[in-house]
Amino acid sequence: MSYIFKTNIASKSNYGAERNPSKIKYIVIHFTANDGDTDEGNGNYFHNNTVKASAHYFVDSDSVTQSVPDNYVAWSVGGSKYADCASTGGGKLYGAVTNTNSLSIELCDDCKNGRIYPSEATIGNAIELTKSLMEKYNVSPEHVIRHFDVTGKRCPDYWCGTSAKNTLWLTDFWDKLAGSTAEDPTPVLREGDSGNAVERLQTRLNVWGSDLDVDGSFGPLTLEAVKKFQADSGLEVDGSVGPLTWTALLRDPVDVVFPDTVDHWATKEITELARMGIVHGLSNGLFNPDGAISRAEAAVMVRNAVKYITGK
Ligand SMILES: [Zn+2]
Repeated sequence: MSYIFKTNIASKSNYGAERNPSKIKYIVIHFTANDGDTDEGNGNYFHNNTVKASAHYFVDSDSVTQSVPDNYVAWSVGGSKYADCASTGGGKLYGAVTNTNSLSIELCDDCKNGRIYPSEATIGNAIELTKSLMEKYNVSPEHVIRHFDVTGKRCPDYWCGTSAKNTLWLTDFWDKLAGSTAEDPTPVLREGDSGNAVERLQTRLNVWGSDLDVDGSFGPLTLEAVKKFQADSGLEVDGSVGPLTWTALLRDPVDVVFPDTVDHWATKEITELARMGIVHGLSNGLFNPDGAISRAEAAVMVRNAVKYITGK
């Protein structure tokens, strides 16, 4: 798999009843309509808010979040048919495709640049996810469609409504459902490399505080960001992204500034260990730096350290 799979189930107020997965006949592609959003952000939003709408999956450059289980109905393609379908060509499958017989996938756009379009890596992940679901539920390519095809809604707007956009839907997404997508998600990367894996690298470096263009090209700025990340994470600073650097990059940054360690003599060490995932705060958000440690806590710390160093 070339993406990280996450699960963050939506509030029950946003989706429908359980269904037999044998009912799944269509896969519907959507966009979130945001310039600069992530699958994690959408997952949290639908988890925390009541919006009476939902999708099964959100996809971005480095990960996929499942928001509604496949065996539950998402509220994503309901509503009436748009009045302008005769002129736009939308809505041809109105009535045939329903919330009950479909799975919905939302594409995010995690590159905020004034234009809503998913990154190459996001499209690649969405294709890989779609293909795995096609296989799992025996869905043919002809049944992989756009929200636009159901109700006429301009969703995804960049892939529907004009002949140029309809062509882009085919060339950038639909035509690729047949090809192979086997790819090592975390290959060793060095300056001069390019492609989807470099986009994933740049996306993760940005999660950790860099401000790189996610252009899939490993140039001097990316190299500088890799070295800084390695130094900050206590890794060998060689500018080459191998298994240990990937493991550290794929962690989610934790808020490591514990309020009760700010002026402590060991602030630096505590912060570094927290960034490495070796020590954690207490459930109240504090660290209690001068507290006594139990045998169990010591065991967990040592285990985390071994895992950090060896990757196992
Ligand atoms: Zn939609």
